[in-house]
Amino acid sequence: MGQRTKIKALLQSEQTNIEVTVKGWVRTFRNNQFIALNDGSTNNNIQVVVDFENTDPAILKRITTGAAISVVGQLVASLGKGQTVEVKATEIEVLGDSDPEKYPLQPKKHSLEFLREIAHLRFRTNTFGAIFRVRNSLSFAVHQFFQEKGFVYLHTPIITASDAEGAGETFHVTNFDLLNPPKTEDGEIDFKQDFFGRPTNLTVSGQLEGELGAMALSDIYTFGPTFRAENSNTTRHLAEFWMIEPEMAFYDLTDNMNLAEELLKYVIRYALDKNKEDIEFLSQRLEEEEKQKPQNERSDMSLLDKLQFCLDNDFERLTYTEAIDILKESTPNKKKKFQYPVEGWGTDLQSEHERYLVEKHFKKPVILTDYPKDIKAFYMRQNEPDAQGRETVRAMDILFPGIGEIVGGSQREERLDKLEQRMDEMGIPKDELWWYLDTRRFGACPHAGFGLGFERLVLFVTGMGNIRDVIPFPRFPKNAEF
Ligand code: ATP
Ligand code: MN
Repeated sequence: MGQRTKIKALLQSEQTNIEVTVKGWVRTFRNNQFIALNDGSTNNNIQVVVDFENTDPAILKRITTGAAISVVGQLVASLGKGQTVEVKATEIEVLGDSDPEKYPLQPKKHSLEFLREIAHLRFRTNTFGAIFRVRNSLSFAVHQFFQEKGFVYLHTPIITASDAEGAGETFHVTNFDLLNPPKTEDGEIDFKQDFFGRPTNLTVSGQLEGELGAMALSDIYTFGPTFRAENSNTTRHLAEFWMIEPEMAFYDLTDNMNLAEELLKYVIRYALDKNKEDIEFLSQRLEEEEKQKPQNERSDMSLLDKLQFCLDNDFERLTYTEAIDILKESTPNKKKKFQYPVEGWGTDLQSEHERYLVEKHFKKPVILTDYPKDIKAFYMRQNEPDAQGRETVRAMDILFPGIGEIVGGSQREERLDKLEQRMDEMGIPKDELWWYLDTRRFGACPHAGFGLGFERLVLFVTGMGNIRDVIPFPRFPKNAEF
């Protein structure tokens, strides 16, 4: 057999009447004659035409949905509708049978919930093929964006002894026998005898270590898995997700916002260029899905329009305080339509509030800055109190339509005294973070960074509604299958 050609290349081939070898998985087999074959290189299938009169009936019977086959044949111009070329098979080999009685994926529409239960096979559907090709492009584009700017890709540890967010939502890492851990004389678990000689956990963020890199390399980014043992039973939370965390020396909050906006636009544009067919397919899928919804819940823009809109418009920038004023005066607040009424200054925004600002009020991505100090992490740079004595920090959150928060970041507190004071107030152990504090002792400088949740980005670009559908094997409470 000759060199195999991927279906994407065959479908774009300018040459016809040449012998080709094509391999893939059977999507459908009609009339003992037409195989729709897919190999994942594109959403489109290639049609293989079988000369059934001259093919062993035993082989024909084995060409079933899901089977892996290898075909040698002539690439010819197609007479059929919807394709320009097809393969006239001269030789078919079944590489892997697939019992049609048992194969869970039938050539029909399956629900996303069902497909989640067979996540090992869902790659073979049009929807998931498209999603994971888009995910791939986005992740490549992230690297390309930062590499073009001279950022250093830094691999921060996955096992750590610190909880960067201080939220205590970590997964412990231990090699103790959980039924019988060594105890101290006081009857406490003796972590000195554990693998690392201390309690450790899976990282919730690479930021603190990222800052250490930035204090020498200037601009770094991480792109790796992070873990949160929060009760992530929402369509926007996973227990294991990928995060992109750039950290830049000599950046202030405005530089930080500019970089984040540029990054988001760059990677969306890249995917639109590179995966046009896939995104068009997903856009149509979404339109079909929206038809099931009542009129008032349908979005007025298609996925393609939404992505284009995001590229063409500046993100709206305003402070938390300004946002609260808008929310207080908003119709849903006055009509008591919010589940959490917006009354005063100081509380965190709920996702219903974020979505109101983005989807109803501004109708575009929004960057909120300068949040109350009390609802943000210890490392954010403290502002001077305002005229009313309200204390804020130089935080920024980027809110996207349909998603809510996609980026969270800040300018970092580089002043040692301010930082230590905040750590004391919040009960963050300074002795454990001695290495972090050293950056404020030796050559501290203004710096900033942010975290972009990669799956939330993939959600936005694919128009999917549930974060569990944009990572190959989602991890969430009570689920670690595959
Ligand atoms: P949220 O309020 O949505 O829980 P967060 O404030 O906890 O987000 P950060 O700690 O700022 O989020 O994390 C940075 C980014 O990581 C978020 O903007 C979001 O895109 C993403 N992210 C946070 N938690 C999760 C999660 N459990 N699953 C997927 N992505 C997440
Ligand atoms: Mn969270």
